[in-house]
Amino acid sequence: MADFFSGVPQREPSQGLGFAVNPIERRSEEREETALATALGDPSARFYLFHAGDALTRGTEALFTLAEAEALHADLGAAVLLGWLGPAPRLAAPVDAPPPDGIAATSLRTIATEGALAAADIGGLAQAQGLLNWHGRHRFCSNCGAPTRMARGGYRRDCPSCSGEHFPRTDPVVIMLTVDGDNALLGRQPRFPAGFYSCLAGFLEPGETIEDAVRRETYEESHIRVGRVRYWASQPWPFPTSLMIGCHAEALDRDIERDAAELEDCRWFPRAEVLTMLARTHPAGLATPPAMAIAHQLIAAWAG
Ligand SMILES: [Zn+2]
Repeated sequence: MADFFSGVPQREPSQGLGFAVNPIERRSEEREETALATALGDPSARFYLFHAGDALTRGTEALFTLAEAEALHADLGAAVLLGWLGPAPRLAAPVDAPPPDGIAATSLRTIATEGALAAADIGGLAQAQGLLNWHGRHRFCSNCGAPTRMARGGYRRDCPSCSGEHFPRTDPVVIMLTVDGDNALLGRQPRFPAGFYSCLAGFLEPGETIEDAVRRETYEESHIRVGRVRYWASQPWPFPTSLMIGCHAEALDRDIERDAAELEDCRWFPRAEVLTMLARTHPAGLATPPAMAIAHQLIAAWAG
């Protein structure tokens, strides 16, 4: 009898994506009420810092000591405990003041695209930014409207008024490459850089399976009906708190009827042309998103 997992690759495709490599041990069972204060007092603690949503870096270094964080005016009252790397706590905190000379403030998109930092730091920064984003957007109780306070090192917000407990949310997004034999369905949103074409995507809705969301979103945006759906990989996407769920989808139709509110173009691209878009050698300058993005790798996995 064949091994149940014989068709499953040892290296998960997710591990090749930006933001996906993250060695921080979350140890949720150790997130006691005192864990954050203990971590802040630990000399081995290291911080990821953010100013106005951009990550602070010094050269190729993204981690700062407590003394450095204080010197940069980090808001340690808003610090969150991400977890540990061995015995050393990893934290994140927002910084109100603009960084001084020698410290850069850069968007995580740019950092992940450029790839100058270690992959583990890019993953840690994504965890940090996703969690800080959630706190920034959930300061009031969604049940009664009272101000909430951070608990469990930042992995919960409690409401002192109605005793509600709120947990960090991750918003699932399906992103799919729909294919018809040797052709792939790609679209362009008006906000994309010039020449960019990507996979169609959209948020899952309550009560929906991943597969049904792939079929619904593809139909809504292109009027292409989808048959079989195969999950391929996932990517943390901290803009602000999403998880991209990448799938390949089997087209049942050929005739596209584009959702003009969502897409300014939507077409079938032959495999040979897609390969030039991946390689950035397309004669008209058409291109897919960068290699760190799940869209690029979903397309590459199909195009071979
Ligand atoms: Zn409440």
